[in-house]
Amino acid sequence: EIRAVESVLRSRWLTMGERIQEFERAFADFTGCRHAFAVSNCTAALHLANMALGIGPGDEVIVPSLTFVATANAIRYVGAKPVFAEVISETDWTISPVDIERKITPRTRAISVVHYAGFPCDMEAIRAIADKHGLAVIEDCAHSPGATLANRALGTLGDVGCFSFFSNKNMTTGEGGMIVTDRDDLAAAFRGLRSHGMTTMTLDRHKGHAFTYDVTALGYNYRMTEMHAALGIEQLKRLPGWNAQRSECVAWYRAVLGVLPGIIVPFIEHRGTSAYHIMPVLLPLGADRPTVMEALRARGIQTSIHYRPIHTFSAFANEPAPGMDLTETIGARALTLPLFPAMTRAQVETVAAGLRAAL
Ligand SMILES: *Cc1c(COP(=O)(O)O)cnc(C)c1O
Repeated sequence: EIRAVESVLRSRWLTMGERIQEFERAFADFTGCRHAFAVSNCTAALHLANMALGIGPGDEVIVPSLTFVATANAIRYVGAKPVFAEVISETDWTISPVDIERKITPRTRAISVVHYAGFPCDMEAIRAIADKHGLAVIEDCAHSPGATLANRALGTLGDVGCFSFFSNKNMTTGEGGMIVTDRDDLAAAFRGLRSHGMTTMTLDRHKGHAFTYDVTALGYNYRMTEMHAALGIEQLKRLPGWNAQRSECVAWYRAVLGVLPGIIVPFIEHRGTSAYHIMPVLLPLGADRPTVMEALRARGIQTSIHYRPIHTFSAFANEPAPGMDLTETIGARALTLPLFPAMTRAQVETVAAGLRAAL
């Protein structure tokens, strides 16, 4: 990674150049889709996905509440309303197709799904509902680079897939994101929208392909730099190996956590293959989560929470979500344990022992 970034600096071409093209080609090949666009982060990708699909004021997009706030914010950026749907169960924290269908109104335009912790949503059911009602499907793949369903990469099962390369994701460029799609109409929109709605790029003009440009839409500057792309190219090569290591750690966790009374480990059964982004558990009923987290912290074990449901944030007070009992229960009892590719079996056992003592 260091050599790759250094060579960009020595080349003196710092943005939207040949590394970006190489990274996009590599990511398109990796996911098996026709088009990939590198962008500044996954939130930008989600914004452009909603925008390119023509979603706007008066429209509704169905989305899980048990996700990072960016999934819902991107819907609000285009003036549309996020309509929150329940998860499937205490052991499958992906969006419920049954609840999606219940939440459809004449204003619904799209379904925005999240492959929570890297585990595939029930895309077959979601695609069928979308087709029946003429809705688009956006996949938030921030947790799931490298995961598959029916031998197809997540991100290619809906109309558009959005990936994150933030520092804590399975592969990283520090900040960064990628949009993938098989739809040529959306690809044309993404190409312009990420760069001010301009019809030609600096590299085209440098190569003498164009002297000028038109601006054909209200676009943004959501571009990625060559340094980020160089980092991404190297990280992508290592992603499959890292995901395999994560998978092994999760198997160790399942073995040692299975014997802790009252703990629920979600996704032991799941569809397709996972990217194993995080290791969430449900604490036993009645366990005091802050106390457990503090006790683990005292042993040098960092934990976190994925997620406080979005509809409970003050910025979403105008988007009430009745009947979200399961999401709220999980939001109140979920605890995310450490998980990273280099984690050893001994470290997994230390975490499990710490959790047992804390409980
Ligand atoms: C991290 C994350 C995002 C946002 O990604 P950025 O690249 O930081 O913008 C969106 N959705 C989910 C589910 C995430 O985990």
